[in-house]
Amino acid sequence: MTESFEKAAEIILTSKLTLALTGAGISVESGIPDFRSAEGLWSKFDPAEYATIEAFRANPQKVWEMLREMGEVVNRAEPNPAHRGMGELELMGYLHCIITQNIDNLHQAGGSKDVIEYHGNAGTLSCLWCGRRYPAADKRNESLPRCECEKILKPDVIFFGEAIPEDAMNRSFQLASSAGALLVVGTSAAVSPVNTIPAIAKQNGAGIIEINKEKTQLTHTVTDIFLQGNAGNIVPQLVKAVKQKKELDA
Ligand code: NAD
Repeated sequence: MTESFEKAAEIILTSKLTLALTGAGISVESGIPDFRSAEGLWSKFDPAEYATIEAFRANPQKVWEMLREMGEVVNRAEPNPAHRGMGELELMGYLHCIITQNIDNLHQAGGSKDVIEYHGNAGTLSCLWCGRRYPAADKRNESLPRCECEKILKPDVIFFGEAIPEDAMNRSFQLASSAGALLVVGTSAAVSPVNTIPAIAKQNGAGIIEINKEKTQLTHTVTDIFLQGNAGNIVPQLVKAVKQKKELDA
């Protein structure tokens, strides 16, 4: 066990409330590209052009081209060792809640029970005009899902320019304010307001453990331990370190 993993394990073992904040990077090894990768979905569909609420309102047909392709990628994806490792950590009682920016359901598929979906969920579709809501499964065979009122439906994921679901935002900030440890995994922390969570946790005295392939704006500001590498490799190593340290300390 290297010193960094040992220190991270110690932070987790001594914390009474441990949270995780995850982003697109944790699902890259499941085959879902993040926003930053040079190739893949987002080189074809610029998020600035396709993932804003203005874009959806102006041309929902065009945005559905991207949503269909993303839906196919997400439906094929399976949880990777990072998702499963976090599920295991929760089962062991050392991870209490995951706040995810992802809309891919892979944390739940990987065994995590308490997951706050900060940017919504693609399991339901809503009408921006009349407010009706439908299970996405009921509209799976429609290439352009429509409401009873004939308008084109939007998945209940948060587009740039939309408000964060109130429950998700309130609970996340409340938990962050009393956390003893925060794992930040696979996020560039460039999207607001979710990127304020690490600083809120830090102010409360939480130890911040960051797992990422690359350094981010958090690394030199709030991060206490930076574990560099692919989440699918690092998270299982961290789980192992927690188990080892627990045995050594027993
Ligand atoms: P981002 O694309 O801005 O940043 C991804 C981060 O993950 C980067 O810092 C990158 O270095 C890191 N990374 C990439 N591969 C990694 C790996 N294998 N292991 C560890 N780290 C890795 O993503 P973001 O910060 O989540 O913000 C983008 C927004 O787009 C969010 O709202 C996000 O939910 C959404 N999004 C979601 C999905 C999804 O649901 N899977 C996919 C793409 C974008």
